[in-house]
Amino acid sequence: MRNESSNYPIIDLHCDMLHYLATVPNSSPDNSRDIGCSIGRLEEGKVRLQVMAISSVEKEPDVMLTHSQIVWFRRFIEEYGDNFNPVTNIIEAREILKSDKTGIMASIENAGALCNNDESLDSAFDRLEQIIETTGKLLYISLTHHGESRFGGGNQTGLGLKDDGRSFLDYINNRKIAVDLSHTSDALAHDIIDYIDKRGLKIPLIASHSNYRRVFNHPRNLPDELAKEIIDRDGLIGVNFLRAFMHPDDPDYLARHILYGLRLGGEKAICFGADYFCTNSHPDKSREPFYFEAHRHAGQYQEILFSLKDELDDEILKALANDNVIRYLNRYW
Ligand SMILES: [Zn+2]
Repeated sequence: MRNESSNYPIIDLHCDMLHYLATVPNSSPDNSRDIGCSIGRLEEGKVRLQVMAISSVEKEPDVMLTHSQIVWFRRFIEEYGDNFNPVTNIIEAREILKSDKTGIMASIENAGALCNNDESLDSAFDRLEQIIETTGKLLYISLTHHGESRFGGGNQTGLGLKDDGRSFLDYINNRKIAVDLSHTSDALAHDIIDYIDKRGLKIPLIASHSNYRRVFNHPRNLPDELAKEIIDRDGLIGVNFLRAFMHPDDPDYLARHILYGLRLGGEKAICFGADYFCTNSHPDKSREPFYFEAHRHAGQYQEILFSLKDELDDEILKALANDNVIRYLNRYW
């Protein structure tokens, strides 16, 4: 029996639903076999706000793919309006938590896909403005995926911030859009922070779907000093459900990552960033199963909260489930 007091509406900071819909033939947001955050699963898990990334995992920028994900974001609102509402301000965010719908909010995973390599930086800015106009609001932008983009080095590189990256940060100054450090190399993350400080830029910092390197050693996970920078700057860190970044064979590491975030002082920063994507055709078979049985889909969110009850008191559970994101939006939006 689930205890009512652990039954909190969920806000999740990262999924690749739009990339799945734009790339997989015959894809559908209803298909729970393809992706863990299908419409039904979001309802089951009481997910009331899902951030959907316009994502580019491809090595070369593909602006058509970026465009089709924007079209899919609109389709959610137009064709699935019974289930989904756009959330573009703090009032809508608070209201959606009390409703039985799911709010959606957009973000960009890998700004490198805002323009082709032979296009000028201005075309990236033009496309960014189109995206903001179409989606209503962007929660965060990361400058890279795993590899290198024209803006800097991703988590599989040792590269830092490039000239175009500096121009990009100047451009998004004061726009209430966070920079996401989930896919940066350590060098890029440090360069971004140094540049923000040097220029006095107003850009919030978050890691939308990241765990902690001290708990499980992986380059995609945050080293202590970067996690603390995010925490000290009133940002957010969304815990990632992927086995590859949590632990190879112990699902209890989900709790360990969260507890470690708390130990670093992150009681106002921890939140969820499960990172559901379509794993069916992923080339790296060693990663199967991509998620532990207990975290396989968003329909399990309330059980996941319940399973954390022994370790976390109710106030922290609520902060993790939704309150920290609401607090962040209150502060920055
Ligand atoms: Zn990612």
